[in-house]
Amino acid sequence: MIDSHCHLAGEEFVDDLPAVLDRARAAGLARALVIVAAENDAEWLRAKALASSWDGIDLATGVHPHQAHQFAADPGAAAGVVAARLDAWPGVRAVAEIGLDYHYDFSPREVQIGVFRAQLALAQARDLPVALHTREAEDDTLRLLAEAQAVAPLRGVFHCFTGDPAAASRALATGFSLSIPGIVTFPRAVELREAVRAVPLDRLLVETDAPYLAPVPHRGTRNEPAFVAGTIATIAHERGLSVAAVTAATAANYARLFAA
Ligand SMILES: [Zn+2]
Ligand SMILES: [Zn+2]
Repeated sequence: MIDSHCHLAGEEFVDDLPAVLDRARAAGLARALVIVAAENDAEWLRAKALASSWDGIDLATGVHPHQAHQFAADPGAAAGVVAARLDAWPGVRAVAEIGLDYHYDFSPREVQIGVFRAQLALAQARDLPVALHTREAEDDTLRLLAEAQAVAPLRGVFHCFTGDPAAASRALATGFSLSIPGIVTFPRAVELREAVRAVPLDRLLVETDAPYLAPVPHRGTRNEPAFVAGTIATIAHERGLSVAAVTAATAANYARLFAA
């Protein structure tokens, strides 16, 4: 079992990280991709300790659209910060998470676009996959991704995919995979479950996005990697597959996309 996107180096886990990891391993977790904010020295320090403590931890780093405003004067400098992290920690598996968030708009949109574009180019230059964060910004995200892919190959995943079947088709057309969060377990996520039934099994990933978005029956509490089991169970049920089959497929897809 894998968790293809979580924030275990975040402040929310400082007090009880060993217990969180114990529960994850007890639940069958083999690997987790830990997203580390590239501009955050404290988080990076914790991430390095975490990665050194268990070989099931993979690291990814990038500048989130919420933090793009820090690079308003020079959006391209965000890629420089990420590149410095990649150079300092050779095991980083992806540039993530990067993208556009027009829901919160914590950063001006033109700055978000500049920061996103620079990091797409960096991922291509380093031959690394990307994990995309896109919220109410699907058109611009797909446009910028197509621009980048016109220049050079680029692989990756739409993290926290919550769209309907039509949105899934548009996202899959980029060649990227879709990572399904715990939201798929929510009673009202009818269209998302419909989309999940239609995604090719070899393009499907699962994630917690912990500490956010805990699935049923943990909804409203801090999320953690052990809970990805509930997401896998829901997907298996929706697709008429065994839990073991979905666990194996998502683990294989993860290994292929984020291979060292
Ligand atoms: Zn995100
Ligand atoms: Zn995230």
